[in-house]
Amino acid sequence: LAKNKGRNRFEFFCYSIEEQAIKKRQLVEDLKTAIYDSQLTLHYQPILKANEPLITKAEALLRWQHPDKGLLGPSEFIPLAEEYGLIKEIGQWVVNQVINDALELQQINTDIQISLNTSPLEIDERGKWARNWLQTLANNPIKPGSILIEVTENTLMTPGTSIQQQMQLLSQQGIKFAIDDFGVGYSSLSYLQQLEIDIIKIDHSFVANLETTPSSHALIRAIVTMAHNIGLKVVAEGIENQAQYQTLKDLECDFFQGFLFYRPLSKQEFISHCLRKTYHRNE
Ligand code: C2E
Ligand code: MG
Ligand code: MG
Ligand code: MG
Repeated sequence: LAKNKGRNRFEFFCYSIEEQAIKKRQLVEDLKTAIYDSQLTLHYQPILKANEPLITKAEALLRWQHPDKGLLGPSEFIPLAEEYGLIKEIGQWVVNQVINDALELQQINTDIQISLNTSPLEIDERGKWARNWLQTLANNPIKPGSILIEVTENTLMTPGTSIQQQMQLLSQQGIKFAIDDFGVGYSSLSYLQQLEIDIIKIDHSFVANLETTPSSHALIRAIVTMAHNIGLKVVAEGIENQAQYQTLKDLECDFFQGFLFYRPLSKQEFISHCLRKTYHRNE
């Protein structure tokens, strides 16, 4: 009987893996359609400066309006896109969309810097990534400084991408750069000086640990001090409560992003916020 049970369980296990594979393949097929079928969309999460009423920065965050599954977040499909070779197309879609949205914001006279995320796998061909960007910028009159590209430490560490030269080219055209999820990678700090970095985004795990892990205080303090000493600004991400915000202000972070202030907003919501010039009281 026991053996029998075991076998049944084994079969169930196998079936489940197979089922997962089928579902995954279906999702990949859906994703291919999504790119051409206007199912992708960008949400915008405002980023605030302490004691500054107007929104001056926002991060574009990718969403997929799936026909049956509803609105999916990037963790549900970006890894898939990376695995199945769709990430460059998606990345290019994001770039075009962000540029369009930035132009729209420019037309309504807001001075907002939009940031966007980049997967390391978008940057695996020599110079191609920067060339695509340059071409897009040549066709679209974006104000210098109005676009900020977020790269992760992984991206900076990927060999064979000539990332340094590529960032330099874009920087010459007024593109700004941030290191996203700073502090969770294993890269050396020397790139902070070698590369065209303007902003460090402290990973939200440090913020989440503020109350429980005393050393995250010291870590954030060290990051902020170092960043300021070499002329970089610091964004703290994932701020969910007033206590975290107060601590991060005391630690002299420059910008603040999190559900405490705003969740990611649809573009329409975001634009109407900007038009009304409303802000979250964040004194
Ligand atoms: P990220 O770049 O670190 O973005 C911040 C993530 O934290 C977003 O999740 C945002 O919604 C979430 N967040 C913001 N404030 C809070 C908070 O107070 N609490 C909590 N718990 N979370 C907060 P989201 O939108 O699910 O994006 C997840 C990740 O997916 C991003 O992390 C980024 O690495 C990636 N991603 C997003 N959009 C794109 C894209 O267009 N291209 C690529 N390659 N990756 C993207
Ligand atoms: Mg980001
Ligand atoms: Mg991040
Ligand atoms: Mg991330």
